[in-house]
Order: sequence, then C-alpha cells, then structure tokens
Amino acid sequence: MAYKCDLNRMSDKIKTFSKFGDAGHGGITRYSLSPEAHMAREEFVKRMEAIGAKIECDDVACMYATIEGSDPNAKRIVLGSHVDSVKNGGNYDGILGVMTGMEVLETIVAENIPHKHPVTAMIWTNEEGSLYPPAMMVSGIICNDYIPKELAVNFQYENMMKSTPMDESEFANFGEALAATKFKGPKENRISPDKYCAMFEAHLEQGPILEEAGNEVGAVQLVMGMFNYRVRFHGFTAHAGTFPMGKRHDALFAASTFLCEMHKRFDELNKGQEPEFVYTTGEIYVHPCIHTCIPDEAEFSLDVRHPDPELRKKVMGILKDMAKEEWCKCTCEIEEQWVRDTVYFDKDLVRFVEESMEESGMKWQKILSGAGHDAQFCAYMLPTTMIFTRTKDGLSHCEPEFVSDEDCTAGATAALGAVLKADKFYE
Ligand SMILES: [Zn+2]
Repeated sequence: MAYKCDLNRMSDKIKTFSKFGDAGHGGITRYSLSPEAHMAREEFVKRMEAIGAKIECDDVACMYATIEGSDPNAKRIVLGSHVDSVKNGGNYDGILGVMTGMEVLETIVAENIPHKHPVTAMIWTNEEGSLYPPAMMVSGIICNDYIPKELAVNFQYENMMKSTPMDESEFANFGEALAATKFKGPKENRISPDKYCAMFEAHLEQGPILEEAGNEVGAVQLVMGMFNYRVRFHGFTAHAGTFPMGKRHDALFAASTFLCEMHKRFDELNKGQEPEFVYTTGEIYVHPCIHTCIPDEAEFSLDVRHPDPELRKKVMGILKDMAKEEWCKCTCEIEEQWVRDTVYFDKDLVRFVEESMEESGMKWQKILSGAGHDAQFCAYMLPTTMIFTRTKDGLSHCEPEFVSDEDCTAGATAALGAVLKADKFYE
C-alpha cells in the first residue's frame, strides 16, 4: 500500500501561505526577501519545528528543514522550490513545491514511515527575480561551478549582489537585502553533492496539457532547450507630416512585416511536429518612439523553445536567412542573447516518480517543461527531477492561477512515493 499525503493538512497550508503577500484580489505579491516573504519563511520554520525538523540557512538565505533518517551518514534527499512570486502572481507558483516538501516531511513523521536518509524541505531564494533580477538567481549562484560556462557568467556572486530593485524596496540592491535578512547562515550549509543525493521540485504545470488530458499530475522528463535573440531594424527618421510615403525607411514597419512573415515560415516548419516548438516575441523597442517621427530603429525579442537541438537549428536557420533579406528598405541584424541546451532530468528519479504515480492510482502522464526552474540548474549538480500538477486553464504568473487542493495533495503523494524509492536506491 502506497502512503498518502493528507488533504486537510495540505489545504490548511495553501490557505495559510496565500495570506502572505495577499494583494486583495485572489493572488499575492511576494518578492524575494520582502516582509511578505519573511512571513512565509517564519511559517515554514514554525511548521517544520513542530514536527521536530532541524532548520538551517545558508549564506544566500536558502532554508533547509531536515528530519533525520536511520543512517546518520547517509546523504540528504531534498524537496524544494521558492516562496517568492512575480508582481500580482498566484498562490501556487513556487510555494506549492515548498508546501509539497513540508507535506512529505509531515507525512513521514505523522505515519512514522521508516527511512534511511535524512529528508529535507527547502526554500530556494529569489527564483522569480521579479524584484532583483535575474530569474533563478540563487540556484545560478549555488550551482555556478556545475552549470555550463556561458550560463555561469550570468550568475556570478559579486554581480548578483549588485542587482538593483525593479520596484519599490528599502534596499539599494540584492546584497543589502541579503545582509539584512535574519534567514542567513554559513556558506557550508548550501545544498551540495557531498551532503545531498537527490532533489525533487514539485511545481504547477503552468500550461493546459494535464488538464486537457484529464490527468492530475505529470512526471517531468526534461526542461526544453531554448534560444533568445534580438532582431533589429535600421532605417532613418524624418518628420511624420512632411516626408513622402514612398521615400520612407520605416524601421517599425519593417519589423512588423518581418514578424508576420516569420510567423508564416515558422508555422510551416511546425506543421506535424510533436511536440511543436513554441516561439514568442514579448518585447519590442522603437526609436525615437514619438508620434511625429518615422521610426529609424525597431527591435524585438525572439524566444524559441523545443527539446530537439536539430529542430532548434532549423528554426534558427529560417531566422538567419530572413535577416539577410531587405525589409521595407531597412537593414536587419540579429544578435544572440543566450542559448540554453535541453536539460534531461535524472533517469532513475524520473522512473521513481512515474512508478509512484502509477502505484498511487493517479491519472498521470509524462510531460516536458517549457519554463525554467531551480531544478534545471540543480540538475547539473545533483540527480534532480520535477513533478507537475494540473493547472486550471493553463494560467500562471497571474492572480487566477489555480491548482485544486486535491491535485496539490496528489503531487505531494507522488513526491513522497518517489522519495521513499530514492531512499532505498541510494547508499
Ligand atoms: Zn516557479
């Protein structure tokens, strides 16, 4: 008989944590290291101390609540995610993974489940990077020696400490916020391969796939590789009222024409792809951005994600070919911002998650992650995997974000089963 996590206890956690940063219309704003995030951390401490867990913090304010196993020398198995949110975010992104870790520990203690390894519930600091960018800042710092060099340079400790707030804050930068928090400890307490043997992160899916398939949970296989480019157009500016249409080199018109054509060519390549690649232009910049001037410069972002590097190469090929063409008498240049390979989660841990879901009688499926998570950096350092829960209407990073209490509990039960399998598997 598989052990099950407790619906009432999980519901109580969801209700309680939703208060910390409650923005008054169903969601939260809970920036990393803000007073609201500290309330969530206090609650974590209170509940974990109540079951006898030992609380530790590291130098970047990650928190660890650990219950001992029968072997004092065994490495820890950890379940973690983040307590910070985006501005006007929902009640599940991040915190669900923290509550899942807490629920697994609480179930182990309440049911007196035998286990060899210490089990840890963890809070990763500043995942969203919504006050102090970038996203996944602290996992980028902690896993810096393990992640690819081209990523590691973006997460150098000294530079991260200088990150300035994007919104109101009493601190001038992340380093100051960190210096002021009481949830700080020695660097030796950081999650590392000498002390930890496996990491699980539960998270809401943030997409509609599980809901459409009628499944409660998903066993995440990988985080899709991606590339991010800037596409830039140059024309020249002149007066909007005096300059004839036929003589214009309008950079914004060039950018919009390019964008429409790019959609056509990408969609053609995407026909029949399973899974399809996803691509987004979410940012646009126009100069001089005045209604009386013809734009001389326009630039947009392009984010493309798919697990297969060959397909990503084909997409990039289309982009590069298009950039060689002339667009409405303007020149086009493209510039790579970053490229990230697909991150495959640990085969054994993925299997444990799948077996756990199957044995608990859940409706589940294999699924891919299109979004980045702390688990993705951690996967370079430790055996790591993720569990997704069904997300209402596929919405996240917004106030209507919703996962039912039942599905949250199913995710925790899946995690518990997988932890117990990992407990038997590792030395
Ligand atoms: Zn998240």
